Amino acid sequence: MWICPACNGLSPVTVPCPNCRTPLDDHGPVEDFAQPYSPYDVDNELDNLVAGPTTGRCCHLLVCPRCGTDHRMALSLKLI
Ligand SMILES: [Zn+2]
Ligand SMILES: [Zn+2]
Repeated sequence: MWICPACNGLSPVTVPCPNCRTPLDDHGPVEDFAQPYSPYDVDNELDNLVAGPTTGRCCHLLVCPRCGTDHRMALSLKLI
């Protein structure tokens, strides 16, 4: 099955804040954010339909405890 390594504690997210270099806090998964539409998405969608799980990524909300910047990062799922 496909799992998110961060959600399962296998591999916590350790990403420094781009502003102040403080390690970001992982606030857990959020609904996949809306990607800006581009013509390329059409091809990718077709690929996903053929290749398998469309939920190949887990989107996490990361917040900097120091400057409050928030980031969203799509983490690759792992097959276990
Ligand atoms: Zn996750
Ligand atoms: Zn920061």
